[in-house]
Amino acid sequence: MAARPLSLEFVTSAKRMDTLPKTEAEVAFVGRSNVGKSSLINAIAHQKQLARVSNTPGRTQLINIFELADTNYALVDLPGYGYAKAPGHVRKDWGKMIEHYLLEREELVMVYVLVDGEIGPTKLDVQMLDWMRHEIIPFTVVATKHDKVKSSKRQRRKVDLALGCGVDQKDVVWVSASKGVNIDRLRSIVLRDLAYTGADD
Ligand code: GDP
Repeated sequence: MAARPLSLEFVTSAKRMDTLPKTEAEVAFVGRSNVGKSSLINAIAHQKQLARVSNTPGRTQLINIFELADTNYALVDLPGYGYAKAPGHVRKDWGKMIEHYLLEREELVMVYVLVDGEIGPTKLDVQMLDWMRHEIIPFTVVATKHDKVKSSKRQRRKVDLALGCGVDQKDVVWVSASKGVNIDRLRSIVLRDLAYTGADD
């Protein structure tokens, strides 16, 4: 099935997990600020405006939920972690909120952990991955900004990034939101993970 752009509709922003609407199934995107999360969600949705919602001041610290049009399947944009400018207590609250969502949300079937392909996993990324492994939360590593890695360095970077994340190289999805690299593939993966069968007309 060729993955068409996912038609997503912004549903709501929530400060706490328990105020999120009920969904059939959902996948979540998480990563440190500036990793390229909004750009990626926009790219897979083919809607330039969409995740700008998530980057609107005041919404960056919230859980933003987008539904596949006419369904109850959802993509969830979690607040970026490690936002350098945020004061300590704010960072702590974000952490708690993300943690609570990831541990308790029953509808959650997959978490895409975004890692900056240009710079590789940061300490925070590694902590996040270790914690998810420990809690047995299903995740997929998505390496962003593929276009920023020189082609002569790509092979080495792919090996190093996978090693740094503690996963198999073949399990990392390399993407570029700017150049459209593997965006179709990621769409297919999202639909497969959601076990969504209604998009093939
Ligand atoms: P977020 O904070 O994780 O939502 O990150 P954004 O999507 O706002 O992106 C952060 C910065 O990285 C912006 O300047 C984007 O233009 C840039 N960026 C995002 N994705 C890509 C990509 O695939 N390639 C390149 N070259 N830059 C990107």
